[in-house]
Amino acid sequence: MTELHTLGIAAIRAALDAGDLTSVEITEALIARINAIEPRIQAFLTVTAEQALEQARSADAQRGNGNTSPLHGIPLAIKDVICTRDVQTTCASRILEDFKPPYNATVVERLNASGMVMLGKTNCDEFAMGSSNENSGYYPARNPWDTDRVPGGSSGGSTAAVAACEAPGSLGTDTGGSIRQPAALCGVSGFKPTYGRISRYGLVAYASSLDQIGPIARSVADLALILQVIAGHDPLDSTSSTLPVPDYSAGLTGDMRGLRIGIPHEYFVEGIEAGVEQATREAIDVLRDLGAEIVDVSLPTTAYALPAYYIIATAEASANLARYDGVRYGPRLAGESMWDEIERTRGELFGPEVRRRIMLGTYVLSAGYYDAYYKRAQQVRTLINNEFNAVFAQIDLLATPTSPTVAFPIGQKVDDPIAMYLSDLCTLPANLAGLPGMAIPCGLSNNLPVGLQLLGKPFDESTLLRVGDAYQRATDWHTMHPNL
Ligand code: GLN
Repeated sequence: MTELHTLGIAAIRAALDAGDLTSVEITEALIARINAIEPRIQAFLTVTAEQALEQARSADAQRGNGNTSPLHGIPLAIKDVICTRDVQTTCASRILEDFKPPYNATVVERLNASGMVMLGKTNCDEFAMGSSNENSGYYPARNPWDTDRVPGGSSGGSTAAVAACEAPGSLGTDTGGSIRQPAALCGVSGFKPTYGRISRYGLVAYASSLDQIGPIARSVADLALILQVIAGHDPLDSTSSTLPVPDYSAGLTGDMRGLRIGIPHEYFVEGIEAGVEQATREAIDVLRDLGAEIVDVSLPTTAYALPAYYIIATAEASANLARYDGVRYGPRLAGESMWDEIERTRGELFGPEVRRRIMLGTYVLSAGYYDAYYKRAQQVRTLINNEFNAVFAQIDLLATPTSPTVAFPIGQKVDDPIAMYLSDLCTLPANLAGLPGMAIPCGLSNNLPVGLQLLGKPFDESTLLRVGDAYQRATDWHTMHPNL
């Protein structure tokens, strides 16, 4: 018999609708799973077991009242940079250790309205800055495929929880790859929507022009169910788009014949792991077999995306993080004067990577350096955007590796920020251009998961989901579970 905690969202939905399962039963099974393996995975910063059971009971009581929301009674986990009313939201930072937001992020409001059961808040890199989860101010989440390795980051807790079957789905955020890279490293499916597709209201800002919330699950069909609920305009976020939200699940036809898929050779970077390249190329062959036309394309500015990203992201971070002064949120360390208190609070409660980025960002924005760094980075961003636009005039989507390597050992890159930043080479350009991107499992290298990345035209989430789903109908990489 299938163990309950291994069920995906669509399977739970079907069992709930058929009356074979109650929301309380699935919630209890997942809480038991969390209790059993969390000491080894550390995917959660807060488990809201009691609240979850209460939400599950209320979902069960409402069942049959004509509620047709796909997520009604379905347990999910939420990344800890997303505000949840009265529930600890630490951003994995000591500076927000005791912060309980007085309001919900719009995505949480929408999930609640659809009847979600919230299992808890997931671990991540501090303020979403990192690629390995090792920058968590509390403890690192671990990769369920090998607990001595990183799950990726920054949404590593959200992807580890889904890979370890502690939750059938979760929310992550992606500023430079933080949904796609950990999804690839943990062998799950993760989606970064177009900038503006989803409200950022209540998402603690890291780099506001790049941040986007997105779903993580074990299948593309399940991603579509979550995306449907959270996508759409929000008057509380003026950057959210007013474009209508299509029916994502209805678009999963399994048919991708005639689509033109571009393969940018610049994404097969020097130093890419042989097993990653091989799995990615095999996945592209499958897409060809399914009827897509595969075309070689070139995006020569790709090499400049990484330096441009680390200037723009840190510049925005330095401004966004100015608000943490020990006065308005979180704990305050005592000092001789007001300035002394602020300095001590920020100096001691922000971790080293966050401090590095605030300094870098302040530097690139300062008089005399602004034009040399920040302005040039913005110009590179425009070039990258133009290049994508030109390529997307010829093709429907791009297929690339997600990360140049599989999951690396915990500790391997902590002392080498550049090596860590290189993990994001293939994911950053989409954030600079605001494009939608998805990572889906496509093989193993050294017994560790490899993810295929698909990038699409702005607001064309549907095509990415359709292709990813067609791929998963034809292959079974997404059904593999780590042996825990
Ligand atoms: N790893 C990248 C960074 O450290 C991306 C993080 C993210 O997408 N939040 O900035």
